[in-house]
Amino acid sequence: MIRPILKYGDTPLHQPAEPVAAITEDVQQLVDDMIETMYAAPGVGLAATQVGVALRIFVADVSVGRDPSGLIVMINPEFVERDGVQLEEEGCLSVPGFNATVMRPTRVVVKGQDRDGADRQVEGNGLLARAFQHEMDHLDGTLFVDRLRGIKRDLIVRRIKKLARSGKW
Ligand SMILES: [Zn+2]
Repeated sequence: MIRPILKYGDTPLHQPAEPVAAITEDVQQLVDDMIETMYAAPGVGLAATQVGVALRIFVADVSVGRDPSGLIVMINPEFVERDGVQLEEEGCLSVPGFNATVMRPTRVVVKGQDRDGADRQVEGNGLLARAFQHEMDHLDGTLFVDRLRGIKRDLIVRRIKKLARSGKW
């Protein structure tokens, strides 16, 4: 089932998520829905907070479904390693229509559990490292807009508020 994606300004999106206590059928259904929602958008990643569920789960696939081995499900993810700095344009399904250059690590190692509860550790470089950091931020209630400074941030926030006032957000 495709779930509606929350947008910047929706309260649950700005709140940190809780660890998953047990991988129940409901959690697996949520994971399946998140995968379907991510591919339908389409996007390269989706965090549970973006569909209004405050649980530490994200899905990612930088191939957007083209490579069957590209799908990554991470439940209770944690950083193992983070190195380097990259500056690239970034967007977010919860901030449609806006992009900005965001500083991210170039290499990230994340560990967690997969959909079946098996331990998994995945290394991400380049775009995948960016996606991991972006989704991990979501689980802490942080959006890429929050990572921007000064005028760049103010401009996006002002334009979103204007869209919201006119009912177009
Ligand atoms: Zn996002």
